[in-house]
Amino acid sequence: MTDRRINISDFYIDVMRDMLSMSLREEREIGAPLCKVDDQIIIDLSNLSIGNEFNVNIPDRCSRGEYVGSIHTHIGSSDFSVKDIVSAIRRGSDVECLCYATEEEAGCKCIRIEKPRNYNELQTKARIFHDALIELDDAYRKLVDIGREFEEEYYQVFSRLAEILRRTEEAIADKAIERGVIRGRRENGIVEVSDESIVLRVEFE
Ligand SMILES: [Zn+2]
Repeated sequence: MTDRRINISDFYIDVMRDMLSMSLREEREIGAPLCKVDDQIIIDLSNLSIGNEFNVNIPDRCSRGEYVGSIHTHIGSSDFSVKDIVSAIRRGSDVECLCYATEEEAGCKCIRIEKPRNYNELQTKARIFHDALIELDDAYRKLVDIGREFEEEYYQVFSRLAEILRRTEEAIADKAIERGVIRGRRENGIVEVSDESIVLRVEFE
């Protein structure tokens, strides 16, 4: 049986705590790549990214060591979002960590992303999905540039496309759960992971 634990030093547990307090103070999600250096997982602070209230884009590269995943913060929700899971698959993460603060609790949890047979197919779909998102964003900006007189039509077309994207994203997440990439269940845009997927849990006061 493979060793499921992950090795993170106390220093980086403190970094997690700092990232979470910074995130709460700024009311923005914060994230960074996780990199493997000599069997230890480190948080690559030179690639620290600051997002907005709902999202953060984390580069999938390391300034040292090998990229193994990412860590990011949530304010108000202690669960991974569907987007988090789909994006982890796209980037080929092995580990994903989430640090969260809700009214009841604050802490971090890291999950192992399994790579079963057919993982590549799922990863291809996640990449196509991501490219489609970027293209849609680009198209939207171009259309807005063309003129504002059809604004209502834009709105309708884009809300329909956004709905299709949301359903596609959920379908990818469902397949990931079904195939055992992560263990858990999806509901209303969030993925509640089961203890079987969690490889590190930290609680803060
Ligand atoms: Zn998230």
